[in-house]
Amino acid sequence: MRSISIFGATGSIGESTVDLIRRGGGAEAYRVVALTGARNVARLAEMARELRAEVAVVAHEAELPALRDALAGSGVEAAAGAAAIAEAADRPADWVMSGIVGAAGLVPGMRALRHGRTLALANKESLVTAGPLLMATARVHGATILPVDSEHSAVFQALTGEDAGAVERVIITASGGPFRDWPLEKLAEATVAEAKAHPNWSMGSRISIDSASMFNKALELIETREFFGFPPEMIEVLVHPQSIVHALVGFRDGGVMAHLGPADMRHAIGFALHWPERGHVPVERLDLARLGSLTFAAPDAARFPALRLAREVMEMRGLSGAAFNAAKEIALDHFMEGEIGFLDMAAVVEETLARLAGEAGLGHSATGLDDVLAMDHLARVRAGEAARKMKEGR
Ligand code: NDP
Ligand code: MG
Repeated sequence: MRSISIFGATGSIGESTVDLIRRGGGAEAYRVVALTGARNVARLAEMARELRAEVAVVAHEAELPALRDALAGSGVEAAAGAAAIAEAADRPADWVMSGIVGAAGLVPGMRALRHGRTLALANKESLVTAGPLLMATARVHGATILPVDSEHSAVFQALTGEDAGAVERVIITASGGPFRDWPLEKLAEATVAEAKAHPNWSMGSRISIDSASMFNKALELIETREFFGFPPEMIEVLVHPQSIVHALVGFRDGGVMAHLGPADMRHAIGFALHWPERGHVPVERLDLARLGSLTFAAPDAARFPALRLAREVMEMRGLSGAAFNAAKEIALDHFMEGEIGFLDMAAVVEETLARLAGEAGLGHSATGLDDVLAMDHLARVRAGEAARKMKEGR
């Protein structure tokens, strides 16, 4: 029986993963080791009971009594805290879903890789923050990372059986989000509710807002660079409002392999779950005749500065990805709390990167996880300062 763990089980990716596990036979077909969550204790306990998990872990220690209560009599162990989440990654499991949001997903993912596991990686922030370390850890320990982000799963699928040396370019698509056609003046006034309303995908609120600002695509550019190793000039973004073509890979003979699928993360999760085989995945089948047309456009760098900032990080590498992601997370927190405007998010990230480049240097490589976590911490402090300054200036 295959054993699995799901980090971030209560989130959007986690729920989709649980749905596939349930449809695949649940506790009768899989040995479920660890399920983790943060605020949604009741849902975590419910899943852990249903799937007969070995252990359920919540991120915050204050939630432990509530989790224990909810699991009373179930035989599922309860644990809490960031260290307990990391320890859950030490428990043997054949397949591990990295579905926590933000840099909090980095340490558990690393721990799973150190044990040589197969890691289904939805948590793009860990590749942005510590790409070279993560990839090296997988190599050294014989672990496998399977991309779950839809664009990266698409590139992975388009590359299967191909010679990576014959690749000329990689194109990841972007829906353009809810603000695709908004003028700059209107973007400055965009609200949290408007930014959360993604036209095609149903996702967690943080990634939905990142899609509206194109910070999600910015993270994905860096993710593409780190995961596949292609140089920045080979990686492009293409706006495609229907979200049907997820990525394209162009080869030196002029041929292009495109990956198409419905806007349902269960395709990419199911692909990773069944890999290297192709298993049945219950997503809606594409009906191109019904869709009629698919459209494409170049992204607008002036309205979406996140893309330009990502290019700088892709060139610089070193610790710049850790700084970029952390600053973005803090800017997003401040926007969600109504303290800064929509466009201020990019301004906070840009200012943080400029300041850290002068004060700490961003180009040097991390020698270990400690360097990455130190930069993550410093960037959060500096981004908080930048955001407060911006709030006062409003
Ligand atoms: P959600 O916000 O829906 O879920 C996040 C999960 O992480 C929840 O289980 C949440 O727990 C948990 N969590 C939050 N904070 C912490 C923390 N500090 N420590 C431990 N766990 C925490 O996010 P998504 O599912 O949308 O996204 C998850 C990851 O997948 C992100 O990296 C995202 O970029 C990536 N991704 C998501 C896609 C999507 O369609 N949703 C598509 C491609 C990539 P709780 O809910 O209990 O608070
Ligand atoms: Mg994506």
